Amino acid sequence: MESFRRKQEKNEVVKYVCLECHEIEEIPLSVVRDFDAMDDGDPSVPPQFGCEHCGNPMYPEYYKGLHGYEYKLSDIL
Ligand SMILES: [Zn+2]
Repeated sequence: MESFRRKQEKNEVVKYVCLECHEIEEIPLSVVRDFDAMDDGDPSVPPQFGCEHCGNPMYPEYYKGLHGYEYKLSDIL
């Protein structure tokens, strides 16, 4: 967790984890922010990406949104 936080700051990626098969995908922070900016739905829900392996939703391990919300995978598990 700690090493990932440092990595996110350095390389600017958000680590998304598939809730179904636990596949991990690193998505560039700029892409996540673009999705966040376009999404005018419920701000308590993070930008969503589908798992490339099983098609189920992925959740960010940690992401702080444009609206100041923090999304943590540990909060929903
Ligand atoms: Zn999956």
